[in-house]
Amino acid sequence: MTGRVVIATHNPGKLREMTELLAPYGIETVSAGLLNLPEPEETGTTFAENARIKAEAATKASGLPAFADDSGIAVAALDGAPGIHSARWGGRTKDFKLAMDMVEAKVRERNGGKAGNRNAHFVSALCVAWPDGHVEEFEARVDGVLVWPPRGTAGFGYDAMFLPNGHERTFGEMTADEKHGLPPRGLGLSHRARAFLKLAEACLVRP
Ligand code: IMP
Repeated sequence: MTGRVVIATHNPGKLREMTELLAPYGIETVSAGLLNLPEPEETGTTFAENARIKAEAATKASGLPAFADDSGIAVAALDGAPGIHSARWGGRTKDFKLAMDMVEAKVRERNGGKAGNRNAHFVSALCVAWPDGHVEEFEARVDGVLVWPPRGTAGFGYDAMFLPNGHERTFGEMTADEKHGLPPRGLGLSHRARAFLKLAEACLVRP
């Protein structure tokens, strides 16, 4: 992966993180939003399928290699929901305060009004698609627990209610660097950074 790459997302939080992750590799990035690329319908039944749909749509429409992430939070007490529907729980207005309220209410209901099982994990499936049809796919997760009330204003989506195992601060309380947890300080913390490290090893060269 060299030269100019499309980041196939219209989500500003993801765009920022994917740009940060690619920055050390000297790759010029342009977002799908900036190129006015249409947002494909996410008809897949897995994170990997949806990442591939987004990356292939962006490479076809732009003629450039494209990098897509499909991700979400899976809550154990909700049998893995919202999972691939994590963005949808934010509704038309993408209100993740509301989505976190919904998650909390459903977890409490499922746990009989008590805190109960609060385990959850984030998943990130990354796909790189090239104009010649070649694709590479990577996936990773980070395990943690849900806290209530939400803590912190950094990040996006469900970050403020997610406390990664072995840490004292939620993703919403972490700096971008802490959430990525990249080498040499760490081995990758967030689901996206962990998947990205696999991608970097397979497809990227540090200048
Ligand atoms: P999609 O991959 O575009 O379908 O959207 C994934 C959704 O999952 C986002 O809109 C967020 O709400 C949530 N999500 C994915 N990754 C993260 C993360 O790193 N922090 C918080 N929420 C996330």
